[in-house]
Amino acid sequence: MQIMLVAAECAPVAKVGGLGDFVHGLARELARQGNTVEIVLPKYDCLRHDRIDDLHKAYRDLWVPFYERSVHCDLEVGRVDGVQCWLIDAHSPRNLFERGRIYGEPDDVERFAFFSRAVLEFLHKSNKQPDIIHCNDWHTGLVPVLLFEIYEGLGMTRPRVCYTLHNVGHQGVTGQSVLYQVGLDSKRMPTLERLSDPGDPGAVNLMRGGILYSNTVTTVSPRYAWEIEHTDQGMGLQGTLAARAQKVVGVLNGIDVDTWNPATDSHLVAPFTADSLPNKALSKAALRQRLGLQDASKPIVSVISRLDRQKGVALLQHAIYYALENECQVALLGSAPDPAVDRLFRGIMDEMEGSPDCQLELDYDEDLAHQMYAGSDMIVIPSVYEPCGLTQMIAMRYGCVPIARRVGGLADTVFDANYSDRPFEERNGYVFNDFTRDGLDSALARAIGLWFRFPEYFRQLRINGMRADHSWSKPAERYLSIYASVRPEAEGALTELA
Ligand code: ADP
Repeated sequence: MQIMLVAAECAPVAKVGGLGDFVHGLARELARQGNTVEIVLPKYDCLRHDRIDDLHKAYRDLWVPFYERSVHCDLEVGRVDGVQCWLIDAHSPRNLFERGRIYGEPDDVERFAFFSRAVLEFLHKSNKQPDIIHCNDWHTGLVPVLLFEIYEGLGMTRPRVCYTLHNVGHQGVTGQSVLYQVGLDSKRMPTLERLSDPGDPGAVNLMRGGILYSNTVTTVSPRYAWEIEHTDQGMGLQGTLAARAQKVVGVLNGIDVDTWNPATDSHLVAPFTADSLPNKALSKAALRQRLGLQDASKPIVSVISRLDRQKGVALLQHAIYYALENECQVALLGSAPDPAVDRLFRGIMDEMEGSPDCQLELDYDEDLAHQMYAGSDMIVIPSVYEPCGLTQMIAMRYGCVPIARRVGGLADTVFDANYSDRPFEERNGYVFNDFTRDGLDSALARAIGLWFRFPEYFRQLRINGMRADHSWSKPAERYLSIYASVRPEAEGALTELA
């Protein structure tokens, strides 16, 4: 099958979070399973060029409509870990993708609406008609809209669209001028109605457009699929999704088991596996040394996270103090986009200055992240909501036991040591329900108690997590069957729109 993945991120060249890991991991596995896979990204100035092989210009002079004018673009192509990756280089006086970062600009909607139109213009002008265009999150929600409203009429009849929701907390809600920007008829009622925001019918909701116009909609865990259809986790889109439940599927993400492999990880002082777990102690000692923590008979409790509301800032803060009061060491690696949250954690960092048991690194640091997964005993993930969450799966692979809130993908992957109804060999962590300090304490206290009193049982939990299959192999097979189900040749294919 020919699959074109369209997204704002792809690890490791343009990664902010789990979306980047998804695109990279799924693309590689689909290619490994014999499919033709291509990725398209904007050519950001902050791309990791060192991670793109054989990058060269492939097309010149692509003109992309932008309001009443056109923007001149070139296409570059290279390989990211073996997968072909196209970069749309927009030469706009507005410097749409030369901002030193991927998101967080006041004109983000305009930037990614432009990208969406540019992707289709590129496919059209280069005569590419993949079987599946796989779009992701609000940034590319306009791709199926433009495909079926404009480009199908220009002969692009082959592609079907799969649209994956990674985080319904960001929907790309904006004014109607975006339609004019990308060349959609802003007076045409069906288009306007399909794109209107449920909370504000005068506004345009790009994610809603993506949901209505795509042939199939997926999200990144079965539990999150249920939550966004049936609870306020849908953030206003629950009605839209529930009404189309037959085309909404939850597929649990995988992780890239080559990047995240304690047996081969070059970031570690010594490799280890479930059969050589004592070697993990070398990583723990190295982590202590790197972070200036004392050598003591204590577990290391970690946090590796974007520090924002979704990740449960208040409980993360509480976890630091609770763990320290209960004879643990604490290591936190996180970056806070919100200045108020950044100040909060900088305050704690100052307070802990010189502490032999606590170190906060307010930064984004891949190398340290690998060493923390390897050197820590537990990781705290008290999310308010969590579509899938990769952190808990990565942690488990490194024998680090997750303490997680039972929400979204965390509920689908972390099975409580004491209360899960799963067989013992599938239990791998500690879970709590309520977003309260007591809730978190109940799980953290059990984990810490086990580490001190029953180390052999704790070791078994680590091993259970390490042995679980979190690779992309099965999720990619699942995606292939979803793609196949919406191809016109599939019996009973779901191709009806809206
Ligand atoms: P989200 O995409 O919501 O941020 P996920 O759990 O899906 O959360 O993915 C987080 C990814 O980002 C993981 O690979 C994690 O290791 C990584 N990560 C998060 N914060 C940092 C950081 N400060 N430094 C390095 N890696 C980080």
